[in-house]
Amino acid sequence: MKNLYLLGAAGSIGMQTLDVILEEKDAFNLIGISLGSNDELNHTILKTHQPKIVCLRTPETLVDYKEQYPNMRFVYGDEGLLDIAKYPEKGLFINALSGSSGLMPTVFAITSGKDIALANKETLVMAGDHIKQLVAKHHVNLYPIDSEHSSLWQLLRGEDIHEISSLIITASGGSFRDLPREALKTVTIEDALKHPNWSMGKKITIDSATMMNKGLEVIEAHHLFDIPYDKIHTVLHNESIVHGMVSFIDGTVKASLSTSDMRIPIRYALHYPKRISHPTSLSLTSLNFKSMDFERFPLLALAYEVGKQKGLLPTVMNAANEAAVTLFLKSEISFLMIEDIVIQTVKEFINVLEPSLELIIETNHKIQHMVLDRYRKR
Ligand code: NDP
Ligand code: MG
Repeated sequence: MKNLYLLGAAGSIGMQTLDVILEEKDAFNLIGISLGSNDELNHTILKTHQPKIVCLRTPETLVDYKEQYPNMRFVYGDEGLLDIAKYPEKGLFINALSGSSGLMPTVFAITSGKDIALANKETLVMAGDHIKQLVAKHHVNLYPIDSEHSSLWQLLRGEDIHEISSLIITASGGSFRDLPREALKTVTIEDALKHPNWSMGKKITIDSATMMNKGLEVIEAHHLFDIPYDKIHTVLHNESIVHGMVSFIDGTVKASLSTSDMRIPIRYALHYPKRISHPTSLSLTSLNFKSMDFERFPLLALAYEVGKQKGLLPTVMNAANEAAVTLFLKSEISFLMIEDIVIQTVKEFINVLEPSLELIIETNHKIQHMVLDRYRKR
């Protein structure tokens, strides 16, 4: 049996991970989880999965949960996430938290000797160099869950990294892919949350509409596969069937195809190095590709720039984006203001190279507070 830990269990990736665990119940021992704000959902998860240690989002309901589940240990908040990360039994630590909250739990899980299955791309965007150093120092494995990166990981299995000429990741284009920039002035939160191909958490759905998500993924791919930015390409692909491609020096291009179902990459990471039988039908009627439009999607262009400049800039971009998306989801700013805020915040920031983890965390908080404060409606 493989020991598992799952942060963000009540979210989109978290719930799909729980589905995958139930498919092969005897293969896994789910030790620790963190829950969300929906109590009804939390109770269903606890009754079905019976973990040993549970992190609640806030302390208000701690006493009730303790009474109802006397055999489980309850913790809460950011400290509670770290308690799960530090739990003294090895295993696979699946991080499905959204946003910058994912970074420190990943760090503590690695230093406690756990392998990592990472959905939380923000971890690598903020601190990719630190994470890679820690992974090497503590001799643990880091597996991607993000669909494009899972595809690239699978395509690179058994290949020599020196024989790669480029990586290509696809982008569906998000909710507004058929709208010209002019039309983006008046779009609503409801419009932005309607992703054409995937059902996901709110933040990543907005990030897909602004193409920030692809920018974060380019930085994520750079760190995961040690490939320079000028060899990581993005292409628009409406169908979300081809997730990643690798182009080799001999002219061969390998592509990885599957239906738009996150349980496929989750299953691969949980059972790696084995594949588990799970029949799905992939309909290959037509596949369309279009070159990326960096003028239509300026945040993707910014992410390449920021990734190349390294240091604190990826953290600043990520923090400004996280705060701007929060403001948009609270109807405090318009959709296009997300771009303006992220671009302006990065432009104003004087970069620091090779920042410590402490400085990364501090900068993330400072930038998020600054953006929330400056752009909130008064
Ligand atoms: P969701 O918003 O659906 O789920 C996130 C979960 O984490 C929620 O249960 C949320 O609780 C909880 N959470 C968020 N912040 C905190 C915090 N500070 N402390 C404790 N719990 C917290 O997100 P997704 O599942 O969509 O995404 C998770 C990660 O996976 C993201 O980094 C995303 O980019 C990545 N990803 C997602 C994909 C998808 O298909 N969804 C695809 C590829 C990558 P609450 O219920 O209270 O909000
Ligand atoms: Mg992705």
